[in-house]
Amino acid sequence: MLLSRKLLIFLVLLLLTSMIAFPTSYEEGPYSKGNLLSLVVDFNPKNVAVVRVLLGRFKRVYVDGYFLEVFSGDRRRLCEGPLSVSITSHFKGIATCTDLGKVKEIPLTPETHLIAISMGPSKVSSSRRSWKTPGAILIKLDGNYLSVVNYLYLEEYLKGVVPYEMPPSWPLEALKAQAVAARTYTVKTALWRRSKGKYFDVKSTVADQVYHGMQGWRSSTNQAVDSTRGLIATYKGKPIFAFYSADCGGMTQDGELVFSNKLGGEPAPYLKPVRCIHKGRTWEVLLSPDDISKALRKVTNSKVLGLSDSGPFVIVHTKKSSLKIHKAIFRKLTGYKLKSSNYHFKGSMIYGYRFKGRGLGHGVGMCQWGARDMALRGASFEEILKHYYSGIEVVHILKLFR
Ligand SMILES: [Zn+2]
Repeated sequence: MLLSRKLLIFLVLLLLTSMIAFPTSYEEGPYSKGNLLSLVVDFNPKNVAVVRVLLGRFKRVYVDGYFLEVFSGDRRRLCEGPLSVSITSHFKGIATCTDLGKVKEIPLTPETHLIAISMGPSKVSSSRRSWKTPGAILIKLDGNYLSVVNYLYLEEYLKGVVPYEMPPSWPLEALKAQAVAARTYTVKTALWRRSKGKYFDVKSTVADQVYHGMQGWRSSTNQAVDSTRGLIATYKGKPIFAFYSADCGGMTQDGELVFSNKLGGEPAPYLKPVRCIHKGRTWEVLLSPDDISKALRKVTNSKVLGLSDSGPFVIVHTKKSSLKIHKAIFRKLTGYKLKSSNYHFKGSMIYGYRFKGRGLGHGVGMCQWGARDMALRGASFEEILKHYYSGIEVVHILKLFR
């Protein structure tokens, strides 16, 4: 009874999210001060041309820029930069900047939002990282941290992502395929987080995609972004889960098995395994009986007697029963000691197991080394994408609104 009610709620939620999550506009404006302030204050979750990047959660942050001004969430002009914000105690903080030449202190509460905008890019620094980035900067208290969110246009965001996801010296068609994959990943992730009411769309780390701002801009990667402007990969008219990894080792992995938790029940037949032109680097790792037992403790309480190799699966024999675990999941359980999900193994629970594999990374979706090799042999970015994501179309985002 309880289960069926849960199932019903889940189905209703799924229906609602698929309705809300669908984009309805793609509007970019000029980076004027008034427009930048509206980007934050009048944020429209249906506009996928704007992306909210969580630069990080910090104890202290410093923002500067050319003619930097600071506003509150209700558009009141508070002061002018440079702006320094720090946490003072639990759920409290303080911001310092100047107002009419005098140093002004603004106490922060969870309700206070600070919006910094400048003419040109802003410089944001924390003790760990710094960015030079276009768009507006929102700072707000989040528990015992300051959340710093950069509101900017998707295309400019991508210019600060692509050079960190693929070497800028690689062939242009591979970089263009990477730009489309990164754009699609961003749109898909943004729509999902917006449907859940989150205050940001993507993280600036490997958790989503590494974003370093304008420091990283390179002419080749900018060209890859500009020449594919607005293009995303879709399946049956919806943006795909555009996973990509460094080196699949000769064959990509089944995304529906590896990332079932990330797909939210949505079918992803375009993430089926395909052959890859790039053979991949080989690796070898020895895991002790202790390593194996420790890794499997998360899935079984029973004593592990041995492992056997069965295609894409690891069969775990325990005192009670046998478990079938996908090699990608097994890799995760070992704390990523295995370099990829493409491997074979031999051994015993007396001497340990020797794993021999190919590739680097989860292996789902586009293989970056494979994309490079295909581009070197004359493939276009569209051919590369259609090879790794079966049955997809590459379309302009605007086509989704009809
Ligand atoms: Zn590959």
